Amino acid sequence: MQTNFSLAQLADPQTARSEQVLRACVHCGFCTATCPTYVLLGDELDSPRGRIYLIKGMLENDRPATQEVAKHIDRCLSCLSCMTTCPSGVHYMHLIDHARDHVEATYDRPLMDRLTRALLARVLPSRTLFRLAIGGAMVAKPFAGLFASIPGLAPVAAMLRLAPARPATRSADEGVRRFAAQGTRRARVALLDGCAQPVLRPEIDAAAIRLLTRLGVEIVRPVGGGCCGSLTHHMGKEELALANARANVDAWMREIEGEGLDAILVTTSGCGTTIKDYGHMLRTDPAYAERAAKVSALAKDVSEFLAAQELPAPVIAPGIRVAYHSACSLQHGQRVRTAPKALLASAGFTVLEPAEGHLCCGSAGTYNILQPEIAGRLRARKVANIERTDPQVIAAGNIGCMTQIGGGTRVPVVHTVELLDWATGGPMPAELAGLRAAA
Ligand code: SF4
Ligand code: SF4
Repeated sequence: MQTNFSLAQLADPQTARSEQVLRACVHCGFCTATCPTYVLLGDELDSPRGRIYLIKGMLENDRPATQEVAKHIDRCLSCLSCMTTCPSGVHYMHLIDHARDHVEATYDRPLMDRLTRALLARVLPSRTLFRLAIGGAMVAKPFAGLFASIPGLAPVAAMLRLAPARPATRSADEGVRRFAAQGTRRARVALLDGCAQPVLRPEIDAAAIRLLTRLGVEIVRPVGGGCCGSLTHHMGKEELALANARANVDAWMREIEGEGLDAILVTTSGCGTTIKDYGHMLRTDPAYAERAAKVSALAKDVSEFLAAQELPAPVIAPGIRVAYHSACSLQHGQRVRTAPKALLASAGFTVLEPAEGHLCCGSAGTYNILQPEIAGRLRARKVANIERTDPQVIAAGNIGCMTQIGGGTRVPVVHTVELLDWATGGPMPAELAGLRAAA
């Protein structure tokens, strides 16, 4: 695609990167067929190619985002299905990240939208505030329908509907900084501390820690680490996201330069995609560029790391039917597609692959709160495809997808690593008590 940026515009590194991405697009339109918003809405401006044109026009002309442009950019899930499909290697992720940043800086959002985004950016990355918010949401949950009927308050209704029905729990492991390997130490890794996942489902990291330490892996969670920044990154709140990225880079670099790390493991694939991009996000910061690139190179989804280990023989009865939901951040963002399924199969599960596995479930960070109508339609489509496989359990590698899908089905939803831990000697996830007879 021809571009028309001035030399002055190209002096800005973000614009220079976007220009590179735009030039790679040959506007063939292959990406439209696999874009969830285009599939649902059928509007070219809600397709990757349409958004690319909108972004190009906005950036080339140094224009503030209009309401129309902001609408179509906001509707993008950042699922990156278009990147998997694109034959020209268009790095849509960097382009949409820049566009969101530009929208945030130049578009005057309606008051309720601004307040909702500010609230989410403040509450979700803080475990303390998020726990308090969940307590409040449990009380207000019965009024979700009322909020949905008030113009502008649909995101509040979506938040209440997504809030867990149980109080936020705290793992006994929370705050523990080091977990020793059992037997001979074979590797030393850092585990992302995270923000929302340990509040919503501390069982995930507890299972990862049990499984990894049984395999002889020492785990550290260094002081100073925390939210990866992806929630604010996807809302265009770049300074907040970069502050989180720098804090994590500092924390992990102390370990890398100290006793050393073989990997930085992530159990939430949405976070993993962002951490693997820290090298790009911080490339213009001389104090962090090199160190961020080192951190990104060490980052791995937990399933990627486990695929290279020798797992013990399964101790549960084989054949439990697991529908594997491939999170977009894992399959499109990180290109980790086969490892989780192969691990589940080798642990004795019968792995089912729902139709339209490439399409997003509608979770996408805060998307299911900010765009509840589209997210609801995507969830209904995803759940119908999953339930058609007649699973006993659904497995996914991302807490956002687990919450989104779990809100639309009675089939229990657990993390892949919880099943692997159970199959190799850990406790059965509580949600699977009904499967006890099969175990
Ligand atoms: S498939 Fe790639 S090259 Fe073709 S329109 Fe989409 S982004 Fe552009
Ligand atoms: S990231 Fe997903 S929703 Fe956005 S344009 Fe690409 S395929 Fe469509």
